Amino acid sequence: MTDCLFCKMASGAIKPDIVYQDDAVLAFRDINPQAPLHVLVIPKRHISTLNDLQETDGALIGKLYLAAKQIAAQEGVALRGYRTVMNCNAEAGQSVFHVHLHVLGGRPMHWPPG
Ligand code: AMP
Ligand code: ZN
Repeated sequence: MTDCLFCKMASGAIKPDIVYQDDAVLAFRDINPQAPLHVLVIPKRHISTLNDLQETDGALIGKLYLAAKQIAAQEGVALRGYRTVMNCNAEAGQSVFHVHLHVLGGRPMHWPPG
């Protein structure tokens, strides 16, 4: 999608602060971090929301979590703990409509989330 911010990052048109990438996935630091570690993991292929996932997207979404695991290890929060969040649509606070997994860590997390 030409007008999608995260597609522009996936294509290299906009260059975020990248922490991990492979053929299917890109991960970069959030521009407005909510924790000392706040990384967004996206599929390079555009999917708007969790509601738009197809049966065939299962492996791709699994790769987002495998990337999150690797990022948590390389950023030193794997043993302390970290949180992964994927917001879907308005009430959850989704603001960029290209699915992304938030990886948050480096401070205690509270539950329930706000
Ligand atoms: P969400 O509200 O779940 O859709 O998350 C979107 C996230 O994208 C927010 O945490 C924003 O701070 C982040 N964000 C927006 N623009 C950028 C950008 N140019 N670079 C990095 N992160 C961004
Ligand atoms: Zn996109």
